[in-house]
Amino acid sequence: MRVVHAASEAVPFAKTGGLADVAGALPKALAAQGVQTSLFIPCHRSARRALGPARQAVRLPVPLGGATVECAVLRAGEGAVDVYLVDYPAFFDRPGLYGEDGKDYPDNAERFAFFARAVVEACRALSLAPDVLHCHDWQTGLIPAYLSTLYRDDLALARARTVFTIHNLAYQGVFPKETMAVTGLPAAEFSPELLEYWGKLSYLKAGLVYADLITTVSETYAREIQTAEFGCGLDGLLRKRTADLHGVRNGLDLELWDPSRDESLPKPYGAADRALSRGSAASGSVGAAFEVGPGKAAAKAALQEALGLERRPDAFLVGSVTRLDAQKGVDLALAAVEPLLARGAQYVLLGSGDPALERAAEAFAARHPGAVRVTRGFDDGLARRIYAACDAFLMPSRFEPCGLGQLIAMRYGTVPVATRTGGLADTVPPYGFLAQRVDAASVAAALAEAAAAFSDARVWSKRRAGCMGLDWGWVPAARRMRELYDLLGVRVVGRR
Ligand code: ADP
Repeated sequence: MRVVHAASEAVPFAKTGGLADVAGALPKALAAQGVQTSLFIPCHRSARRALGPARQAVRLPVPLGGATVECAVLRAGEGAVDVYLVDYPAFFDRPGLYGEDGKDYPDNAERFAFFARAVVEACRALSLAPDVLHCHDWQTGLIPAYLSTLYRDDLALARARTVFTIHNLAYQGVFPKETMAVTGLPAAEFSPELLEYWGKLSYLKAGLVYADLITTVSETYAREIQTAEFGCGLDGLLRKRTADLHGVRNGLDLELWDPSRDESLPKPYGAADRALSRGSAASGSVGAAFEVGPGKAAAKAALQEALGLERRPDAFLVGSVTRLDAQKGVDLALAAVEPLLARGAQYVLLGSGDPALERAAEAFAARHPGAVRVTRGFDDGLARRIYAACDAFLMPSRFEPCGLGQLIAMRYGTVPVATRTGGLADTVPPYGFLAQRVDAASVAAALAEAAAAFSDARVWSKRRAGCMGLDWGWVPAARRMRELYDLLGVRVVGRR
């Protein structure tokens, strides 16, 4: 089976959030399951830097808005997955992936119509003959629409069925209806049953309408998005497609996220610490020396030192690593943390995004100079040191398709405190703490419960060991995805 993935970001080439983790890891996990897998991403500026030696696979003329644009498709070095980068500097050689300073690039409609069309054209030019074209989020939503219309009878794509994965329904890629001309899609497709969303063109809806199969990244989110509360205006369509909609929970790349091999940390820990804490728990005597395995304790001390916080091993150190967006409930996090600060807790936040939330977080830090540090920006190394150093990871999302932050935290022995929504509801129990409702009082109650548990070394050590003992690897998700691909069967040309 040949599967082509298309995504707008993927580790290690370009990343703004969890989509990149998934687009980097899922294709690898599928390849390990024997699926012949390729991945297309745009050649963003960061990707070009990460790329190293690459060779041009093909030069490609891509139709865009009545003209033809010529781009190159680069092929990244060898690996289990063939990674192709669509290189068109005018669109992708930019500091940001989707925008800068909290503002979207004004030509995102053109950029991602182009990318979608380029992926389809590259599949033909490179004779990839995919059985499945697997598209991720709105940036690739037009691909299923192209396959169902302009390329419906194209023999080079004759076998291709399409899968569309929703990583976040809140980002929809909605553009003025004049964008139809940019896409080159037949005008007749602009109707409320198809591409139109309240008078505009929705790239996300294109994916949801035309794909043969839809997945999303956790079972709870798959149910939630079929309700008015979480459906972002598309719940009706998703209910209509309920038979084709599956929740497949994301995994974590256990090689990339591994405290026993993480070079960003002062001292590796993991397997050995894990064995120690398991052994202690089994014998019923959790020794103080193992309470915070030596590597984890070193990470905590180093972070406190680096950020200028008092170096106290007994301080309840809470952390968040996040996009600063209303979704992530940073306002709830700050409100929940505040009462604990007077009792000696510390809070570190790394995030970037909405300038108003950045200012709010920095103002909060300024009010609590002895106990709170906010770092604005996107910093993989600091993120890793925070995951490792903290006792608890605070993630009070208002909605959360899957969430990787809480999985990484658990892998690093940091107990998550989160809200009962989406993938958080599916993964945080039984060792983490869940706020029953998405409001400041409930999040504060969950965090206070965590703080109380932390004050009992024995209780905390069991929680931490429980978190670290869980296997968040990709194998189950890749197996399930493979089953879903198999269910799609072979396509009969001309019958989408
Ligand atoms: P989302 O995809 O909604 O942003 P996830 O929890 O699924 O949230 O994934 C977030 C990913 O991005 C994680 O790998 C997290 O460590 C990373 N991340 C988020 N913000 C930052 C940041 N400011 N610096 C470094 N990594 C970050």
